[in-house]
Amino acid sequence: MRKPLVMGNWKLNGTKESVTALVNALKEPADKAAPKADVAVCAPTVFIGLVEQLAAGSKLAYGSEDCDIHVQGAYTGENSPVMLREFGCTYAIVGHSERRDYHQETNEYVALKYQAAQQNGLIPVLCVGESEAEYDSGRTMDVVKAELQAVIDLCGIESFKNAVIAYEPIWAIGTGKTATPEVAQKVHADIRAYLATFNAEVADGVRILYGGSCNAKTAPDLFAQKDIDGGLVGGASLKAPDFTAIIEAAVANA
Ligand code: PEP
Repeated sequence: MRKPLVMGNWKLNGTKESVTALVNALKEPADKAAPKADVAVCAPTVFIGLVEQLAAGSKLAYGSEDCDIHVQGAYTGENSPVMLREFGCTYAIVGHSERRDYHQETNEYVALKYQAAQQNGLIPVLCVGESEAEYDSGRTMDVVKAELQAVIDLCGIESFKNAVIAYEPIWAIGTGKTATPEVAQKVHADIRAYLATFNAEVADGVRILYGGSCNAKTAPDLFAQKDIDGGLVGGASLKAPDFTAIIEAAVANA
């Protein structure tokens, strides 16, 4: 039985004041959800120490939006997985489409980040997903399989025992165009089937989140799908009432 996970991705948003208000408002919903669903927020690195202090003593987990492949050294501006772990991060998102696109991160480079996160005690949240053109031309699974394969080649299928996958169709991110529950379910099932060709038990156990304009309205039908194990939520994770409603949808479908 897979426990749902609802994860916020704040991206490059927030102030000390808004982060404080948001974390304080999410602690109770996270505690309430805890027996049935996990809740986490992924914050800009500069706020992680603040989130650590605010979330202390609650079930609200947190993580980073990215991490480097190095743990220390002359890598100006990067964020070490060891340092993120020291500040209590549970998760590290890797391979978000905005990183792949704006920072030219290849499948192989994302796999190195996944490996660095995992080797240093973080749970990687591997984002995969196709562009609108790829979707329109029926190439979704070609793209997603290549993204998964780079990780399988480097870290092995067993590594997914301690990782999360987020299927995020790029055309749905921040656009208000959510994939229909049926479309999303089909891709999630195809991802699981692909992983099962390597190891059925790992495929059955891995949590696959949906991301892309997931909000309080769309979450209930998405989370009711058999292979959708929660959500990676951008815009709607910045508003406590919306994110709380999404958490409640995950609990209701647990
Ligand atoms: C995301 O960036 O991971 C995301 C899903 O964003 P949004 O929910 O805003 O589409």
